[in-house]
Amino acid sequence: MNVSVIGAGQMGNGIAHVFAQAGHAVIIIDIAQDRLDKALANIAKNLDRQVAKGTLTEDQKKSTLGNIATATDMAVGVKNAELVVEAATENIDLKLKIFKDIDSNSPVNCILATNTSSISITRIAAVTTRPEQVIGMHFMNPVPVMKLVEVIRGYNTSSAVTRTIMELSAEIGKTPVEVNDYSGFVANRILMPMINEAIETLFQGVGGVAEIDTVMKLGMAHPMGPLQLADFIGLDTCLAIMRVLHEGFGNPKYAPCPLLVQMVTAGKFGVKSGEGFYRYTVGSKDAAVAPAFAK
Ligand code: NAD
Repeated sequence: MNVSVIGAGQMGNGIAHVFAQAGHAVIIIDIAQDRLDKALANIAKNLDRQVAKGTLTEDQKKSTLGNIATATDMAVGVKNAELVVEAATENIDLKLKIFKDIDSNSPVNCILATNTSSISITRIAAVTTRPEQVIGMHFMNPVPVMKLVEVIRGYNTSSAVTRTIMELSAEIGKTPVEVNDYSGFVANRILMPMINEAIETLFQGVGGVAEIDTVMKLGMAHPMGPLQLADFIGLDTCLAIMRVLHEGFGNPKYAPCPLLVQMVTAGKFGVKSGEGFYRYTVGSKDAAVAPAFAK
């Protein structure tokens, strides 16, 4: 299948990786060539890790990389697509514009999927001429490792398209779960308020960064504390999702914590900017509590 992935960020490059590894012809599209180069380097590094672990052969790595092309021009990138998976920045206006563009430039039978964490599939579908072919395909981070794909049916998504995406998700080695289209779907409806509450707990001084994360890791058997998980997701993305929940349900319980708003305003996005609740060193997995929260 010809798959075009829009956005070469942390999710886009993971999505391209898993489709290419399953033998699909992938084109990754982003606004600048340096982002595409960075994505290709990242995919190569992740494939090397699989080879080192013995879960992939050198030949499989080569054929996976051989299945990936890049483009900076959307019209060129989606011209022959049978499936587009959009994984650009979590911003409604940007996504609506991108879907109008894909709709005008891709073949009429092409399925248009979005990896949005929270934005309404029905709203995105409404700007296209093919709402029955628009669907949510919500991968988890890191995509090559995490098994789940939350498949979100918009109001108009057809049963045939839903079936195709459920089957395709299984074929690329994932476990799909079908859900309906309400703000945050299932995954982020539950996860994000928990992360926001962890930030609120820190904001009120109930516990420090390390203490909050340790309570959730050791007490609830979470593999990663909620504050570090927020750093990995991206604090800008967490804030965008909380705003969608807040607006979508009109319930003050979803109001983003002022500390989250402040950190995003200050450019502290977590791992991708080098600092969030922890400070990260490029090329190292070690993270120390960020100076702003150190005791
Ligand atoms: P990111 O910031 O790492 O990457 C976004 C990419 O989109 C950037 O490379 C940017 O250049 C590109 N982009 C922006 N405008 C574009 C355009 N007009 N055309 C093409 N590319 C464009 O973000 P991310 O974490 O990869 O998130 C991408 C999407 O995936 C968001 O919708 C997010 O909510 C969703 N998501 C994120 C996670 C996570 O853990 N980070 C998990 C699941 C889903």
